[in-house]
Amino acid sequence: SLPPPPPHVVLMASPGAGHLIPLAELARRLVSDHGFAVTVVTIASLSDPATDAAVLSSLPASVATAVLPPVALDDLPADIGFGSVMFELVRRSVPHLRPLVVGSPAAAIVCDFFGTPALALAAELGVPGYVFFPTSISFISVVRSVVELHDGAAAGEYRDLPDPLVLPGCAPLRHGDIPDGFRDSADPVYAYVLEEGRRYGGADGFLVNSFPEMEPGAAEAFRRDGENGAFPPVYLVGPFVRPRSDEDADESACLEWLDRQPAGSVVYVSFGSGGALSVEQTRELAAGLEMSGHRFLWVVRMPRKGGLLSSMGASYGNPMDFLPEGFVERTNGRGLAVASWAPQVRVLAHPATAAFVSHCGWNSALESVSSGVPMIAWPLHAEQKMNAAILTEVAGVALPLSPVAPGGVVSREEVAAAVKELMDPGEKGSAARRRARELQAAAAARAWSPDGASRRALEEVAGKWKNAVHEDR
Ligand code: UDP
Repeated sequence: SLPPPPPHVVLMASPGAGHLIPLAELARRLVSDHGFAVTVVTIASLSDPATDAAVLSSLPASVATAVLPPVALDDLPADIGFGSVMFELVRRSVPHLRPLVVGSPAAAIVCDFFGTPALALAAELGVPGYVFFPTSISFISVVRSVVELHDGAAAGEYRDLPDPLVLPGCAPLRHGDIPDGFRDSADPVYAYVLEEGRRYGGADGFLVNSFPEMEPGAAEAFRRDGENGAFPPVYLVGPFVRPRSDEDADESACLEWLDRQPAGSVVYVSFGSGGALSVEQTRELAAGLEMSGHRFLWVVRMPRKGGLLSSMGASYGNPMDFLPEGFVERTNGRGLAVASWAPQVRVLAHPATAAFVSHCGWNSALESVSSGVPMIAWPLHAEQKMNAAILTEVAGVALPLSPVAPGGVVSREEVAAAVKELMDPGEKGSAARRRARELQAAAAARAWSPDGASRRALEEVAGKWKNAVHEDR
């Protein structure tokens, strides 16, 4: 008779390249290192289809993919905000996951931050349900604390707490660093965050794309809580960074340009797959880069007020039209501005790249650290301010910009000063550079060596999933 087929794992990504990219990497490892059959499931909305297709096509052919059918959202109030729309979209899509799991019985269902309604489906089907966290460990602490505060004896909210707030093992968080909507029960997203956190106890485990050297205190706090049963086990499996060969060769103009620059001379500037600056901020950043006198590679996106592209990853119009008059000519030779997208992992790994002005998306931060590149933290929205606090205050690998008032603008002088501090390093710049090298070494030892701790953590989880299948048969 034929050998039994490999156990099947279903991974569901919520919309957005920042969610899909690390989940796809998890899929690749589950297939190649742990012998699973994997289906990566995406949701047909709020994502840029071309970016999703590019990420998915970089996966080995043995990884199956499926797209959940569109769901209606037209009943939602217009002003509930992007986060609430994401939560609602994924919640409404989860019932369509059932046939994929039932049709090919699963050893485990893995969802991500917005996808936790899938945990109930996993429980109902008697399948292990895990949450993949493409962001920091500290972020789980914040969600937990929203629930503890709200449901606890003292029934309160973040806005009533001391500022800054110190969560177990985390960076001191200024209230302004905590993601929008987590602080105030009047915000439409607050109820979703609360529900989200209440579901965590029902997870069989968490897989987090982080590692202890990035956030030692938070890692230790969850290790203790896992041991004493206060919280499901948290497995630190990161950092996941896409293999460089997976990137699109069409984007090699950046790489050819980098090849012509001296080693360690270029500042890379990018705000992730969804970040956008205002028109005024785009001009001020340009002036700051020019003023710094350093070489730069800048991924310029269409400006927009509010800092978030409406359709994530989509580009419309020509962002170059918003650069200051004569900027491209004046910086010709030492600066390259590219529209919308760059092969970031390769750019960061390039020997010419020395620093990263970043929106502090967690994937970007891990990619930077994995290449030993220090950062200038320029968070825009979502959990990025919190990431910036971790990167500047705990990991020590990024220099902060002074906070600007909402709707305010980071001045050209401040941009130039931060770039100079990191590139002609002063004391702070030197410390960040040293930490970048240390974290790069730690990441390599954990994630890339065959018996590194992150690989062993995933192996442990894989073993549990395989046993669960075994017990069933
Ligand atoms: N990315 C890229 N080129 C770009 C912008 C982004 O390759 O021009 C990739 C980047 O390498 C990272 C992901 O898109 O893997 C962005 O994820 P992150 O968590 O940093 O930010 P988000 O896009 O979720 O805000």
